[in-house]
Amino acid sequence: MATWTEPERIELARLSTPIQRLERTSDALGVEVWVKRDDLTGAELSGNKVRKLEYLFADARAQGADTVITCGGQQSNHCRATAMAAARLGMSSHLLLRTSDPQSPPVTEGNILLDKLAGASIQWISHAQYQRRSQLMSEAADELRKAGRTPYVIPEGGSNAVGAWGYVRCAEELDVQLAELGDEPTTVVYACGSGGTGAGLVLGAAMLGWANRGIRVAGINVCDDRDYFVRVIGDICRDVSQRYAGNLGDAAGAAKAITDESIDIVDGFVGLGYAKSRPEELAVQVELCRREGLVVDPVYTGKAFYGLTRTLATDPGRLTKRIVFLHTGGIYGVFPAADQLAEHLR
Ligand SMILES: *Cc1c(COP(=O)(O)O)cnc(C)c1O
Repeated sequence: MATWTEPERIELARLSTPIQRLERTSDALGVEVWVKRDDLTGAELSGNKVRKLEYLFADARAQGADTVITCGGQQSNHCRATAMAAARLGMSSHLLLRTSDPQSPPVTEGNILLDKLAGASIQWISHAQYQRRSQLMSEAADELRKAGRTPYVIPEGGSNAVGAWGYVRCAEELDVQLAELGDEPTTVVYACGSGGTGAGLVLGAAMLGWANRGIRVAGINVCDDRDYFVRVIGDICRDVSQRYAGNLGDAAGAAKAITDESIDIVDGFVGLGYAKSRPEELAVQVELCRREGLVVDPVYTGKAFYGLTRTLATDPGRLTKRIVFLHTGGIYGVFPAADQLAEHLR
């Protein structure tokens, strides 16, 4: 088996996360459904972002940073995890949060409340400004440098070559867990939002030789479209191949061999748009919680889980008889959705 050396990492997440079988859901959907509980990577650090942040904060530390800057939507799980991780490591955080009217920011609830509890400084920006987020983050970094700080910029979602290692590690965990279940054609299904989770899983799958064992990886995008994510994920994989050529060891060939065809995105479930829910999506989320005691969020995991159930119903050959749904977190996103969920709670 291929061996490689991962880059520096700071332990922040509770790993390895468990997998569990959803009994009643499996019966209802007619396939074996398992969940990889990456919502259990921590309480305040819950979700997928902390896996990427383990490597990003190690890189920030190595560069002598005392402040991290990042960006996201107003209820960003990534920004909340970054603010919490920074506080845990004695660093400061500065968040650029996207909202419809920066002059009247949204109420302090859900992830925003946690951002503020962690002491993050928040810069509200419009959707138009968010298009220039890289520039705005480097301007914020300039300001901080002038004030004598040493900032480190983390891209949206922590999705770059550094952060992707978090999901190479997750693939390694799954490799062991799936071997214990006994090899059988399996699809690892995940919600795709900024591509870093997908890139890490696609890399891990290639490096671990999953294709030979019948294990596939399929993302369900919650924004943009298939072409966009094939490009974004492919770019991150290529970056890893170049930047970490020295780390990849005898897995370098497999990482290099990743093509567009290696990147499977199940498109068609963006619905009304990013962070906008349709009643049928919310209904599936409520049903899942009542059936299994498992909370998924409206923005990512709930939308992807809805996409999974629809795909199994309308195009069963698209996936395999065994599914591992990667629960990427997002529980704090249910609180701001309370009003929308209310009519499904009778
Ligand atoms: C960010 C996020 C995702 C998407 O992960 P990406 O690496 O950005 O594609 C999925 N689920 C939750 C809960 C998230 O917060």
